[in-house]
Amino acid sequence: MFAGHYATALAAKAAEPRAPMWTLIAGAQLVDIAWSIFVITGIEGGRIEPELPGSPLVLEHMPWTHSLPAAIAWAVVAMVLSRFLLRLPMRAAVIIGAVVFSHWLLDLLVHRPDLEVFPGGPKLGFALWNMEVPEQAVEIGLLGLGAMFWAGTRVRLGQSVWPAAAFFGLLVAVQIIAMLMPKAPADTLAGFGPSALVVYLVLAAVAIFLDSRRASSPQGSA
Ligand SMILES: [Zn+2]
Repeated sequence: MFAGHYATALAAKAAEPRAPMWTLIAGAQLVDIAWSIFVITGIEGGRIEPELPGSPLVLEHMPWTHSLPAAIAWAVVAMVLSRFLLRLPMRAAVIIGAVVFSHWLLDLLVHRPDLEVFPGGPKLGFALWNMEVPEQAVEIGLLGLGAMFWAGTRVRLGQSVWPAAAFFGLLVAVQIIAMLMPKAPADTLAGFGPSALVVYLVLAAVAIFLDSRRASSPQGSA
């Protein structure tokens, strides 16, 4: 899952506009940002099988990012850092933590069973990736819902809806480009990591720009 993860970030922004958009956008993919770094460095691993439906990733070893306790730990760390480092209101920090954990729940929906209940334990995944068209529909549908919630909140706050529409369009475009990119059999997961990492970080940087267009309610004020 790629674009679908951002649905919770956009819905969270609607629920708690004081949470900076970059924390939500980076938070929704925090587990995968860490995963990208860990596959580059060899801490986690797997392989690429281009003929697989939905996603070519065979994720054999990712206890530090995609096991259930690891996902909970990343969420708690994000919540604590949001509260005490970024000095965000408690409600915003809790919502950022929830967005970080939502990554695991959405991965559970689409991954083939590779999400460990605990490191070394049974692996879960409902494998929606095996049904490519419904999987894409779920991702884009969820993202559309999130964007609608965020646009609705912006209207209530007297802000323009264009950032919601533009960001939705950007994410759908990236999703389609990723879907159409040829997967070479020689690709390795370690080689895939840097491009994934760049996309996650660029989108988080774009989110800073989205916040800078806000018209009201200074961020971070309790
Ligand atoms: Zn993931």
